[in-house]
Amino acid sequence: MELTIDRLETVIIDVPLRRPHRFARVTMTAQPVLLAFVHTRDGITGVGEGVVPGGPWWGGESVESMKVTLDTYVAPLLAGRRVDDIASLWQDISDHVNANLYAKCAVEVALHDAWARSLGVPVHVLLGGLARTSIDVTWALGAEPEEVVVDEALAKLRSGEHRTFKLKMGALPPEEDTRRVCAIAEKLTGTAGVRVDLNARWDFTTAKTYLPRLAAAGVELVEQPVPGEQVEALAELNRLLPIPVMADESLRTPVDALRLVSLRAADIWSMKTTKVGGLRRARDIVAIAAAAGIPCHAGTSIETGIGTAASLHLACAAPGVTWGSELFGPLLFAEEVLRTPLSYRDGALQLPGGPGLGVELDLDAVAALRRPQLMKEA
Ligand SMILES: [Mg+2]
Repeated sequence: MELTIDRLETVIIDVPLRRPHRFARVTMTAQPVLLAFVHTRDGITGVGEGVVPGGPWWGGESVESMKVTLDTYVAPLLAGRRVDDIASLWQDISDHVNANLYAKCAVEVALHDAWARSLGVPVHVLLGGLARTSIDVTWALGAEPEEVVVDEALAKLRSGEHRTFKLKMGALPPEEDTRRVCAIAEKLTGTAGVRVDLNARWDFTTAKTYLPRLAAAGVELVEQPVPGEQVEALAELNRLLPIPVMADESLRTPVDALRLVSLRAADIWSMKTTKVGGLRRARDIVAIAAAAGIPCHAGTSIETGIGTAASLHLACAAPGVTWGSELFGPLLFAEEVLRTPLSYRDGALQLPGGPGLGVELDLDAVAALRRPQLMKEA
């Protein structure tokens, strides 16, 4: 089998959501997604997804910046190389492009998909085999008023789809937000687990003031209350609170991972293939966590079925991902981009079989969702 790469192709699609998803400062109604296709000379195509939660607010990258980075600086490095040359390609890409981990993830996953398809094996084989074949999925509730959130959570509980819920916080003043979430937690505690994600919006003093009230109301976990770079503050909150603190924005690289370990800054880590630059970096970071006795949770950047399948392969192959997942991305979309949707059963996402990522893009759906190309300036 000829493994030589012919070209890298990138396409932006805009996928509408079933309901608006509200973060602290940004509300999404559609998710922009960059699809990266690695085509081999033998006609095999691997696909990866570059996606950030609703725009550049999370980590600075956007689908537009990813497209320029990949088309201009990464595509020329791939042509003529082999899809199984991933370690060396990663080095070359990193030598030419600093940071831009979301863009790198899109290519890194596409290389794995193409390589696995060339061999006729699933991507998890390239990651060392399986630790599990499904993973529990928590549901993220938007930063909406109490009644809206409780109704949505109760409907999910009744249908048996999810048993734990993550609430976004940070859109309201802290006192009002805390009262809203305490009221929700008191209604759901006992029947469902309630977690909160501040998305790095509070300063240390605000967090120290309000987080103990959330814990007392039954919230079982607090994700990233303070800015990502403020790891010492995160560590102090982790010591202060009776419930686990989860690191998300504070964890992008293996060096971040070592710092989190040395400060014991978080009891649980949110692992996303997207934010760390792909499957191998994610696997490396999970290994660091496991060595430190820290469980990982498979996080999402609101990926479609492609990115979700990639994260699922990693979550099933990395033994240290023992704290479930929030891989609900496809459930939030109003349009399906896969020919066969991923399977959610009994609150868990099931690993698909088949070569590569085990999922096939619906190319008609992709064509319909494709963003029109801007006219070139005269
Ligand atoms: Mg988060």
